[in-house]
Amino acid sequence: MFQSLAVRKAQGTQFIRDLRAAQPGGFRGKPLISDQTCAPNCRLCQEVCPSNAIELKADHADAVAIDLGRCVLCGDCAPVCPSQKLSFNNDVKLSATTRQGLVVTAARPHIDPVVMSAELHQRFGRSLKLRSVSAGGCNGCEMEVNALSNVNFDLGRYGIDIVASPRHADGLVLTGPISRNMMAALQICWEAIPEPKLVIAVGACAISGGVFADSEAIGREFLDKYPPSLYVPGCPVHPLTFISGVMDLLGIA
Ligand code: SF4
Ligand code: SF4
Repeated sequence: MFQSLAVRKAQGTQFIRDLRAAQPGGFRGKPLISDQTCAPNCRLCQEVCPSNAIELKADHADAVAIDLGRCVLCGDCAPVCPSQKLSFNNDVKLSATTRQGLVVTAARPHIDPVVMSAELHQRFGRSLKLRSVSAGGCNGCEMEVNALSNVNFDLGRYGIDIVASPRHADGLVLTGPISRNMMAALQICWEAIPEPKLVIAVGACAISGGVFADSEAIGREFLDKYPPSLYVPGCPVHPLTFISGVMDLLGIA
């Protein structure tokens, strides 16, 4: 028996006690842009970026902007930079309540903090049921959304659950760039969710179309009609990015 207990002790614990304080090792999170001057006529980072997430403004003091709503966190921009201007830390707190809040520059290094909604806190602060719809996603973000309920993250401890039926949901977790083939199904699911309800856009594809943004096979009118209450960046999203964003939005301590 003592041997079994020793093995169990050596295994440690998977359960993350403090989701607020958890920081994953090796995670490529928030972009850091130094105030180093760009090399003359350089566009190398923009050229390697697969999702057009980098905007360059020539002859501008704040020349480089990274849009986390488009960034797939591939990291390819950092090593090509001759000025060592770009790097990433492991901060998982990447969510924002506005689309513009996801753009970082050297002068504006922080993502806009998630703004707590008093209305959402009152309605859903103790219980939020979400229906997940993959609208043309690759299954990356979908797997991370599934992980929210596993033994590590156990988001259900805060009354936040992914549910099977939109009839039981308070909101929609949207993943994928919204392929045209999924537009009708997405709309039907949304209409089946009773009011009041909210949309959470999860992953670069859902937020901006990601690497599929220019594809003719996607149709994103849904988000024009129903703007998200929360944008959760990543490719795929880290569960802790989702968790910190939703907890901040709902005002969960
Ligand atoms: S890390 Fe983001 S900004 Fe940099 S190349 Fe990849 S997608 Fe583009
Ligand atoms: S950030 Fe680096 S790679 Fe991008 S334009 Fe400036 S010097 Fe070039």
